[in-house]
Amino acid sequence: MAEAPRFLPYGRQVIEDDDIAAVVEALTSDFLTTGPRVEAFEQAFAEKVGARHAVACSNGTAALHLALMALDVGPGDVVIAPAITFAATANCARYQGAEVVFADVDPDTGLMTPETLEAAIARVGGRRLKAVLPVHLGGHAVDLPALKRLADAEGAVLVEDACHAVGSQMTFGNVAERVGDGRHSSMACFSFHPVKTMTTAEGGMVTTNDPMLARRMSLLRSHGITRESADFTAPELSLDPSGAANPWSYEMQQLGFNYRLPDLLCALGLSQLAKLDRFIETRRALTTRYWELLPPLAPMVRAVSSPPYSNSALHLFVVLIDFAALGRTRKQVMDDLRARGVGTQVHYIPVHRQPYYVERYGALELPGADAHYARCLSLPLFAGMEMGDVDRVVEAVRRVVRD
Ligand SMILES: *Cc1c(COP(=O)(O)O)cnc(C)c1O
Repeated sequence: MAEAPRFLPYGRQVIEDDDIAAVVEALTSDFLTTGPRVEAFEQAFAEKVGARHAVACSNGTAALHLALMALDVGPGDVVIAPAITFAATANCARYQGAEVVFADVDPDTGLMTPETLEAAIARVGGRRLKAVLPVHLGGHAVDLPALKRLADAEGAVLVEDACHAVGSQMTFGNVAERVGDGRHSSMACFSFHPVKTMTTAEGGMVTTNDPMLARRMSLLRSHGITRESADFTAPELSLDPSGAANPWSYEMQQLGFNYRLPDLLCALGLSQLAKLDRFIETRRALTTRYWELLPPLAPMVRAVSSPPYSNSALHLFVVLIDFAALGRTRKQVMDDLRARGVGTQVHYIPVHRQPYYVERYGALELPGADAHYARCLSLPLFAGMEMGDVDRVVEAVRRVVRD
């Protein structure tokens, strides 16, 4: 019997010998956490995306939470998040006691647009809109300059959920820009979960050009504690009668968390960051092959395309399938593909439809989000795939929709 072809998940990490060696080296060094690799990773990442500051943290969710804490988002405030995203984008506002207004999305791309943001702003009512959190879904950039104009007009801060967009770029006007360079936003939040474009197992990063925000976030990720005597505010607690700081002194001046990223994982991050461009090139070649092979399956199956200004790092390869016209449910299609060795996933169940948010905000109608959700399916795309894998996936899809 012929050997069954290897199962292709929709996404997975690529770990190479030098990644392993980097982690082993860190593991046998003096520091497992809060060592020299943390700052080295932050500096290398800031340089890679063109930001002045980068603050490493334990995951992408912590990155989003740190960003909103640094902005003093709190009870009574409103944060706008798109309905098509991972729950964490909205949840970080709730951690701070703020309320979420969900923006609809473009039914094809799943992205927040100037139009859907405007409609969401109209639903904020008399409350204070503190932040807008667009998501670069699948790595495809949102129209940042246009979203920023709308946020600015409301006195709100733009914070990018760039968890899909490590390495994504954009061109507005004739200017080439990198996601995270902070030209149009206050902060950008990244994730290094294994399915993203590079990984530290768990891990996250916030980039900003504002030194005050960077400083606040680095304190908040470690309990709100400072060890710098120049910042001490309680002499009787922290200083010797001579006025010098006690050697054991630290001050907790605000309520923070333990959101640190260990030195060990920063070693992996440094190693992975060095190969990010290669990973993205592979994703680009694989995506190009999908685009060559998929057109005959239209209009039943159509690939989601990137907006013209966006040069995506291609975190996901999403197709829109007309399940109604096909006469099969999405579960049937996913099961059939799985039986043919092809893993798929749905990005995402609209967050405003989750029971927690329905209970809080009632049943909202966001037709763009529903239309995107009804048709989307993510096909395998990761840097460890081979070109022939794409042919195999498309052949499996062809059989499932044609037979
Ligand atoms: C992965 C992801 C997050 C959260 O990142 P974690 O590192 O898993 O906490 C947030 N937003 C989006 C859009 C994501 O895809």
